[in-house]
Amino acid sequence: MRKDEGAATTSAELRAHNLARLLRAVHGGGGQLTRAELTRQLSLARGTATVLVRELAGRQLIEELASPADAPADIKVPRTRGRPTGVPSAHPQGPVALAVDLRDDSFTLAAFELTGRCTVLDRQEREAGSGTGVLADVAVRLKIRRRQFGGRVVGTGVAVPSPVSAGQMVQPTLPDWQDVDVAAVLGSGIGEDGMAAEEGPILAGNDATLAGLAEARRGVLRGVSVALHLHVATGIGGVLLSGGLPVTGAHGSAGEFGHMPLTGGSGPCRCGSVGCWELDAGARGLLRAAGQPEEGDRMLHAEQVIAAAGTDPGCAQALARVAESLGRGIGALVNAQDPEAVGLSGLAAEMYQAAPAAVRAGYLATLMRFRRSEPPALLPSTLGELGALTGASELVFDAFLTPRGLGAWPAPEQKTA
Ligand SMILES: [Zn+2]
Repeated sequence: MRKDEGAATTSAELRAHNLARLLRAVHGGGGQLTRAELTRQLSLARGTATVLVRELAGRQLIEELASPADAPADIKVPRTRGRPTGVPSAHPQGPVALAVDLRDDSFTLAAFELTGRCTVLDRQEREAGSGTGVLADVAVRLKIRRRQFGGRVVGTGVAVPSPVSAGQMVQPTLPDWQDVDVAAVLGSGIGEDGMAAEEGPILAGNDATLAGLAEARRGVLRGVSVALHLHVATGIGGVLLSGGLPVTGAHGSAGEFGHMPLTGGSGPCRCGSVGCWELDAGARGLLRAAGQPEEGDRMLHAEQVIAAAGTDPGCAQALARVAESLGRGIGALVNAQDPEAVGLSGLAAEMYQAAPAAVRAGYLATLMRFRRSEPPALLPSTLGELGALTGASELVFDAFLTPRGLGAWPAPEQKTA
C-alpha cells in the first residue's frame, strides 16, 4: 500500500485522497472510461464524483470529453439515464512525464500524457565516444524538452541497461557508467530548498524491469494477478509482478533472471557468476550457436539470425537450440514462482514467434508434472520497443498521482508560462 493511501482523517485529506484515486483511475483506464464508469469503479457517490471532476478540470489536470480521445469514430459513448456521461481525459495543458530509454549505443526520449499517450521526441544513436558522452547528450535534450513543456513536466523516468540500486547503475554494460547516480548526472530533480524541483523527480529503473511494469499496466499482462515478465536482449532481465506491483527486492535490483544457472552450463559470465542462463538463451547464445562473432550490434545480428532461420538450415538449427534453452529457463522460473502468465519481450518475443514449438518443448520439459496440464500462457509483448519507455513513465506517474505529488501541481494562475 502506498504511504499516503493510509487513513485520511480530515475532510481536506479525504478530498486529496479521492482526487488522487480518481486521477489514478483515469490514468489506469487510459482515458477510455466515462465518468459513470470511474464513479462505479471507485465506489464514489455521484455528487462526489461530479465535484472531484470539476476540481481536477479547474486545476487543468483533466479535461472532460464527449467521447474517448483515441476511440474510433463508431464507438458509442455509454449513456446514463438518458444523458451522456463525459470521459475524463488528459488536459491539453496537463501533466507530462518525460521518459528516457537509455541503451549502450543510443537513447530515446518521449513525453507521456496522463492517459499514457506517448509522443517520441528524440532518438539519437551514439556517435563514437564514451558512455559519459551519451549521458551528457541526454541531459542536454532533457533540458530542452523541460523548457519546451514548462511547468507541465512532473518528473522524468529513465530506463537503464543495468541493475539499479538506490538510483545507481551498479553493474552496467559500459564501464564508465559504473556506479553512476542517474538523477545526479541528468539534473538532480531536487530544488534548492531540498524539495522536488519544479520539473519533478528523476527516477531510474532497470530497462527489463520497466518493460514488465509497462506490460502489467498497459500491455499483455494487464489484469494478471501474478505475472512473470522476461525481456531478452544481450542479457535477460525481467520482473515478477504481484497485483500489478513489481517485486524489485530489498535494493531494487531483483529480476536478474539471466544470471541464474538454469540450463546447466558452467562457463564464466561477465557478471562474475558461472553457467548463467543468458549465455545460452540471450543474443550472445544465439550468435554463438549460429557460428557468428559475438561482436558489434548483437541484437541486430541476433535478429538477422532469427529472420534467416526460414531459409538457412544453420540459422534454423541455432534458433531451435536457443529457443529450447529459453523455454527450459522459463519452466524453471515458473516452478519457482507460480505465475498466472509469462510476458515475453525483446528477443524472447521474437524467438517465441519464430520457433514456438522449440520454446514450448523446453518449457514443458522443465515444468513440474503437475503444472503441465495447464501451463501458464506465454504472451508476447504488445508494447514492443515502447515497453521500457512506458514503464519509465509509469514510475513518474506513480510518484505524481498521490496526494503529496498532486499538492505540488500548481493551480493554473500560479503557473509560469
Ligand atoms: Zn551472469
